[in-house]
Amino acid sequence: MTGRAKGLLFTYLRDWVVDTRGQGVWDEELAAAPSHVREVYDGIILASSWQPMKAWNGIVDSYFGNRYPDPNAGMAEFCAHLGERELTTLVRLVLKMGSPEFMLKRTGFLWKRYFSAGTFGAEEIDKGHWRLWLECSADPDHTAGPLTCTNGPAPWLERGMALAGADGTVRHVECRYSGSPRCEYVARWKSTK
Ligand SMILES: [Zn+2]
Repeated sequence: MTGRAKGLLFTYLRDWVVDTRGQGVWDEELAAAPSHVREVYDGIILASSWQPMKAWNGIVDSYFGNRYPDPNAGMAEFCAHLGERELTTLVRLVLKMGSPEFMLKRTGFLWKRYFSAGTFGAEEIDKGHWRLWLECSADPDHTAGPLTCTNGPAPWLERGMALAGADGTVRHVECRYSGSPRCEYVARWKSTK
């Protein structure tokens, strides 16, 4: 099965680069990206469409690899921006009414909004201490590549926990691309409610 990524990720990335670096930088980077990436951007990208996962990994690898001494830092910056934009009024309201636990249990649902491949799970280890994991193969042609699993979920979950009244951190501690069977995340927080 071919893994897919939601169209809105591609347009958010393009708009963010154009807004922060200018159209010229985007055009240059798109020209330098693999042809299968350019094919996606040459078409009309609807926010709700599903695009090849390989193209998502391709554009983030080439853009952040070319433009940042530390590609993870660039990707983390973009993901924080995306989180701000995507945690809409409605989502904020729901999170505000819920607890951190309520939000962490829904990570799988949030993941599926963006990626067709991979399953998120979450379990409580102790009060204010949870483990989360992403199960899927380590195959950047079909599943989230290392830039995405390392920098995507954590800042989102941290922001969501803050909205749910918890001051905490989420760290990506094990990775499929470093030989682990699944990516693992550790969430820790103190309730501020
Ligand atoms: Zn990972």
